[in-house]
Amino acid sequence: MVLLRFLLVVAAGYLIYRLVRHFVAPPGHDTLTPPGGSGSRLVRCERCATLIPPENALVRGDQFFCSEQCRTAS
Ligand SMILES: [Zn+2]
Repeated sequence: MVLLRFLLVVAAGYLIYRLVRHFVAPPGHDTLTPPGGSGSRLVRCERCATLIPPENALVRGDQFFCSEQCRTAS
């Protein structure tokens, strides 16, 4: 039964190797990037300097505005 024991040792070693790899270097994109990422970035209103998320901002050219009043007033 030397072969069977050899296979068991190899299988156990492989499982330990996979476990260690999983904890040392998680697969995929589970890296240490902060939550939110680019979504937490803010833009500044050209008129009143209010900081707003880009998805809520009004855009004219390369300028951002917090509201329609700011966009029309500037
Ligand atoms: Zn504004």
